Amino acid sequence: MRKRSLRDLPPEALDGQRALVRVDFNVPLKEGRVADDTRIRAAAPTVKYLRDKGARVVLLSHFGRPNGPDPTLSLKHIVRDVERVLGTPVEFIPDPAAGVAATRRLPRGGVALVENTRFWSGEEGNDPGFAETLAALGDFYVDDAFGSAHRAHASTEAVARLLKPAVAGFLMEKELRYLGDALATPRRPFVAVLGGAKISGKIDVIQALLPRVDEILVGGAMASTFFLAIGFQVGGSLVERDREEVAQSLIARAGAKLILPRGAVVAPSLARAAERRAVSSDRIPADCAIFDIDEATRLDFRARIVRAKTVFWNGPMGVFETPPFDAGTRAIAEAMVEAGKRGATTVVGGGDSAAAVAGFEDRLTHVSTGGGAALEFLEGKPLPGVAALEDA
Ligand code: ADP
Ligand code: MG
Repeated sequence: MRKRSLRDLPPEALDGQRALVRVDFNVPLKEGRVADDTRIRAAAPTVKYLRDKGARVVLLSHFGRPNGPDPTLSLKHIVRDVERVLGTPVEFIPDPAAGVAATRRLPRGGVALVENTRFWSGEEGNDPGFAETLAALGDFYVDDAFGSAHRAHASTEAVARLLKPAVAGFLMEKELRYLGDALATPRRPFVAVLGGAKISGKIDVIQALLPRVDEILVGGAMASTFFLAIGFQVGGSLVERDREEVAQSLIARAGAKLILPRGAVVAPSLARAAERRAVSSDRIPADCAIFDIDEATRLDFRARIVRAKTVFWNGPMGVFETPPFDAGTRAIAEAMVEAGKRGATTVVGGGDSAAAVAGFEDRLTHVSTGGGAALEFLEGKPLPGVAALEDA
């Protein structure tokens, strides 16, 4: 079911209205400043559109995991960066219960940012009373926080049931289009690339993708658990020995769709990268661990990716944080860019995966900003923050 979007509201009707906009400004801080403003930039098109139409914009977000008010997790620390990205002054509202007057004083096109919603226990409790406090800050509701949509909190769920219209912002709309429609009715061949640290967190994603994809290419530490399941030794590699049976049943279900790495780059330890070498997957030395996919696998995966018309990728192929073990991950990013040039829809989801494709975003169709939410959505779980929005 398509959700009603900001685009569906008549632009004239926005003039002078207070837009209560849930964004995801849960950004990393370093020495008191925003270290990565991707999430703020991601919300900018929605804010700009609303300002251009004469709306007064009231932004809501959570920030970290405080237990009650916590000065280190105040959103006032990010006000200057929000002002820089949005190119306009931002008024800070320290207490939503006392904020109505401030929202009414905002000029047309003005912007305010409310304090960290998680300072109030009603937020995570999805409390209707707290949702009413939030709802009083706007005349309509826009949800642009896809990354928070898998949680039923007052600022994502209860408020959307109280304040109408309740519509999807542009970022939310894009996430739903590319993680939803593009992968539900994919242009074929549809290739999924899965990696990362653990198979356990991704079993449901694999199960959900299997019937839809033409191929699943597996890398990362996740591949090691599949290696165990087919009887290969994995030495000191990161592996989930208690998931061997799950891996076996996935292999049985997937048949020829599941493609494992031909070989790996191994080393005695991460620190001893100079001693790294490529070995075939059935020859992992007992005194080494897998830290990346090897060149043969990179070429194999690349050939499959560039043939595809839809590519979805979650999970790095190796320990990409520690070069030179980023080579496999980088090769997948480059292959996706190449597939895109040939007309494929290319979608990346997952927190570490998004970090791994930093610098490639412009050449990919969509890089999801929602880590956990993206995976839950792919598993087919309803996201409370999305469900609460009006249907189109
Ligand atoms: P995402 O956040 O995109 O869903 P994950 O959290 O599942 O991805 O996995 C990312 C982590 O997986 C990274 O920290 C990376 O170092 C780790 N990883 C990938 N391959 C390996 C490997 N062979 N050995 C150890 N860690 C790995
Ligand atoms: Mg992760």
